Amino acid sequence: MSRMIVQSLIKKRIEKLQSRLFRYFTSESPYTYEQFIVNLTEEIKEFFGASFCAIYLLDEWKGRFQLHSKDEFVKESLRNHFSLDDFYTHTSNQLDVQHIIGPQTVGSSLRVTSLHSGQTVFGYLVLKGPSSIQMEDELLCAVSSEITKCIKKVEGFYTSMEEEKKYELLYKITSHFHSSIDTDGVLKEIIETLRKTYPDFQYYLLLSNDYTKDNDLPVRELTYDMDLEYSASTQAYLTGEVKIEDHLVEKRSILYAPLKGKQGIYGVLKVVTPGYLYFPKKDIEFFIFIAHTAGKALENAQLYQQSRKLNSDLQLINSTSQKLNSNIRLTEKIRYMAYKIQQSFHADEVGFVTYDERSTPNVLEGSTEYFTSSDSSALVDYVKKSVSHQDGPLFISDLKAKSIDHVLQYRSLMAVPMKDHEHISGLAIVLHKDPYFFTFESFKLLQSLVAHSTLAFANSILREELEKAVITDYLTKLHSRVHLDQCVEHHVKRDENGSLILFDIDNFKNINDTYGHQVGDEVICQVADLIKSVIGDQGLSARWGGEELAVYLPMLSSEKAHDLTEVIREKIAVSTSPAVTVSCGIASWKAEWLRPNRKQIVQQADQALYKAKSSGRNRIVTAHPIKDRN
Ligand code: GH3
Ligand code: MG
Ligand code: MG
Repeated sequence: MSRMIVQSLIKKRIEKLQSRLFRYFTSESPYTYEQFIVNLTEEIKEFFGASFCAIYLLDEWKGRFQLHSKDEFVKESLRNHFSLDDFYTHTSNQLDVQHIIGPQTVGSSLRVTSLHSGQTVFGYLVLKGPSSIQMEDELLCAVSSEITKCIKKVEGFYTSMEEEKKYELLYKITSHFHSSIDTDGVLKEIIETLRKTYPDFQYYLLLSNDYTKDNDLPVRELTYDMDLEYSASTQAYLTGEVKIEDHLVEKRSILYAPLKGKQGIYGVLKVVTPGYLYFPKKDIEFFIFIAHTAGKALENAQLYQQSRKLNSDLQLINSTSQKLNSNIRLTEKIRYMAYKIQQSFHADEVGFVTYDERSTPNVLEGSTEYFTSSDSSALVDYVKKSVSHQDGPLFISDLKAKSIDHVLQYRSLMAVPMKDHEHISGLAIVLHKDPYFFTFESFKLLQSLVAHSTLAFANSILREELEKAVITDYLTKLHSRVHLDQCVEHHVKRDENGSLILFDIDNFKNINDTYGHQVGDEVICQVADLIKSVIGDQGLSARWGGEELAVYLPMLSSEKAHDLTEVIREKIAVSTSPAVTVSCGIASWKAEWLRPNRKQIVQQADQALYKAKSSGRNRIVTAHPIKDRN
């Protein structure tokens, strides 16, 4: 045959192929890209009357050529894929048939033609046909160029179609993601999008921290283990790159895409494909994008949690500091702190212990019940020793391991020393019944809380010590109760007689409620001044406590005491502003009846005052003479 005839024959055949492909291409195809390629092999097979046809296409991500064919026989005969490396070791641009012949030899009549766009080979066409088929090189070459055009067009078409669909879904996720800190919601949407886009795949979220919030999510724990350093999931997690693992036997591929945020990697998206082993590049990019979106969502949620936690920690420290620096008694401060710690750390017991110069422990009032019982003393001793031994705070996840048998009812312990120069030396101890209950974060928070409150405790301790020592009451400038006590003690031992009078302002709460605390204070001062002016140096006037005042009259008869008290009562009723009245209780003693002790006198006066109150207020009641010990 002349060359001209051959060429015109080839041209005709190619035109025929073109029209077939064109029809095929323009038919309303419901195919996926993969299905299209497979169908194309059928088309070519028919065109040549070949006994089989296959196409290998380059999977750039895996660096290998992947087989596409409909025919089971072909799949068994040819390699599923072969790598680029095999190709490059080969000298020519031609593919050695040996590389693709599979376990079952298919004979020598295999023709392989490369498919290339420009210089780049992106695939191979493999044909086997009866020898009668004319498969001149020229024809094959022309056919391969037609197929190339066709594949490229279809690829472009599918890519843009799929991209559009995917990016629409992605847009939905990301817009939700930006408007939400609900990680579960974002993760759920991500999984749904994946399932919609590739319904045949299975998806798992391997997360690095326990994430048990929602059981609907396919969350698995990421087993991060150095032994598994080379497992693909660990690799993806450590390197932040996509890893693909092929299971040739189970015939499935697994893709691991790291859930990457701006500051770190939060887990891995695992995609399992059933049946075939092919991840096209554009799909991998999609998975990466999705995984990064999930990573950012997790990161956002984590940052949000952290900032909320920090915020609530600061609020806790701030509110406790405020309360502790207000002018309240030590016991109240301790009680408040114990309550706050119980509340914030879900602790079972909270104790505050101070030590004197001889290291004797003193559990402060306001600590919780366990600490006020003697059961706690062994534990307190143990903690004291451990803290001084390691010269710092103590964190024990399980006390059982420390084998101090008698305190086994509590398993988790945190203890922080309270130190403020010379003034205070003590410990704050926090307990829970369960082991491993407290987190390290709460330990750190407890340390700041204790550091912030120690000064306030020290202030109260100092003030209360001073109060005891001081003989003058700071508000009324009368003597202090301690001083009056000492005075009574002194006189009762030496004198022949004397009287103690207790005054309590009537309905004083109303004064505070109506005029405020400050006016209340002024009224107490007015009453104090009146008492002092009447008593002069006949006796000793003192602030008994709150709105209660007291006078001790040594060497005065009970009648004289009553007269003076009456003067005081009347004066108060008419001269105070806002006007108040007082109730008075008098206890008088005489050595000739009986020499009482201070406590007895106080008790009698107190009972008399109570009677004055209960019988109508603004009156005086004198106790029975103290004649017998009771
Ligand atoms: P009554 O004694 O007649 O039974 O009634 P009362 O309203 O006085 O009751 P009570 O003695 O139980 O309460 C005294 C109140 O005085 C309670 C407390 O708020 C207030 N108080 C105590 N100490 C002070 C103080 O130093 N200054 C002021 N402004 N109020 C005080
Ligand atoms: Mg009172
Ligand atoms: Mg009162």
